[in-house]
Amino acid sequence: MLTIVNPSTEDRVEQLPDDTVVTIAHKVEQAKHAQAAWANTSLAERIQVIRRFNQLLVEQAEGLASLLTAEMGKPITQARAEVQATTQRIPFFLEQVERVIQTETVLADPNSGLREQISHEPLGVVANISAWNYPYFVGTNVFIPALLTGNAVLYKPSEYAALTGQAIAHLMGQAGVPEGVFQLILGTGEVGALLLEHPLNGVFFTGSYATGCKVAAAASRHLMKVQLELGGKDPAYVCDDVDVATVAAALVDGTFYNTGQSCCAIERIYVHYRIYPEFVAHFVKRVEGLQVGDPTLETTYIGPLARRAQLQVLEHQIADAVAKGAKLAVGGYRLDRPGYFFAPAVLLDTTHAMTVMREESFGPVIGIQPVSDDAEAVQLMSDTPYGLTASVYTAQEKRARAILQQMNSGTVYWNCCDRVSPRLPWSGRGHSGVGLTLSTYGIQTFTQPKAWHLRTN
Ligand code: NAD
Repeated sequence: MLTIVNPSTEDRVEQLPDDTVVTIAHKVEQAKHAQAAWANTSLAERIQVIRRFNQLLVEQAEGLASLLTAEMGKPITQARAEVQATTQRIPFFLEQVERVIQTETVLADPNSGLREQISHEPLGVVANISAWNYPYFVGTNVFIPALLTGNAVLYKPSEYAALTGQAIAHLMGQAGVPEGVFQLILGTGEVGALLLEHPLNGVFFTGSYATGCKVAAAASRHLMKVQLELGGKDPAYVCDDVDVATVAAALVDGTFYNTGQSCCAIERIYVHYRIYPEFVAHFVKRVEGLQVGDPTLETTYIGPLARRAQLQVLEHQIADAVAKGAKLAVGGYRLDRPGYFFAPAVLLDTTHAMTVMREESFGPVIGIQPVSDDAEAVQLMSDTPYGLTASVYTAQEKRARAILQQMNSGTVYWNCCDRVSPRLPWSGRGHSGVGLTLSTYGIQTFTQPKAWHLRTN
């Protein structure tokens, strides 16, 4: 049984039966049969079903947000924002899918009668193994385009967002997705591993680098398509020509939103030495004002961590940094109350000898380091194996572009951060992943091309 614990009270919310070798085998078989019929329904019908699913999300947003808050501790205003933003993202897929999967004629030679065409066929049956931190975003980025393009989906939500996963599966049925096409697989990582023992046609994974490596290894046994959206250690660089108070406020939000548990959260900040003292003063003051506590309250900005084990990771990073000379300006301790609460922490004068500047924190902790110029910032920003996003704050676009073009990351930001758009591809490099979601490429990725050589005579 899977026990769901409320991370802000440590009370048991519910127990769910998890999947087994037998139930998984049955669901895989069902999905295989159902997929062929689903791929043969008209695109218009598949679009209609997903549009209904989106409408159900809109109608039930409040209840879904409360459920998410109860099982993973996301502050209610942020849970609501996630569900709402998801309902605004799905229409992008609905509008684009027809154009993206249309058969293309790339040669039509009237003299020889030769035509060449590319058609886009579904992959087949794909696994969607998901993280808990934004279950609606990371889930829908995969299963919506996968379903629209005619695939069947074996959806394994995280064990820390299993009730949300269950609710999503229920809404899929209500929206009219035929039986077997969208299958819920419940359980921990062991259940995910069992799922990958089957010869599926693809696995689309969101989670940590360590698990991503295991998923890729398991998938290699059957040579299925693998996409991995993994962690990050996303840097921001603040140049000496900005409005310091405005940028400090933006970066506090980029760092601590969702209690720092975002794949593209700002995880380290480099500040030009000329404005370093002023920036630090604004930043720390703002962090001191963040409302930490009960995530069901409208006024709460920082809730509990979703997982108890992460408290120790954060404590180790802080102890390591302080031992190596960093100054802990604020926070950095567990709150004396039930729940996995951690006071948001700011470490100053950090160096790259400290784990907090090179390993993912995935919680409310940030290191801030002064730099002497843009060249040093570029060198430090590039000094991790990750490559998800990088941000630069400066009044000059030319200066930002010169820095950002040197970043080996899938996404770059000028004067913004922690932002995802359905119109742009979302991808990581290095330890941050392989493949992409979102944008029109993130629809096409759920299809395989077929090359047609057609000769009339
Ligand atoms: P995780 O790697 O612990 O788990 C992810 C999923 O994999 C869960 O559903 C889990 O049950 C499953 N799993 C665990 N072991 C498995 C195995 N051996 N085989 C198959 N499945 C297995 O990650 P998490 O704690 O859920 O998520 C946090 C991580 O996800 C962070 O590193 C974060 O940066 C990353 N993330 C990345 C993105 C992105 O878009 N790049 C988005 C969200 C989260």
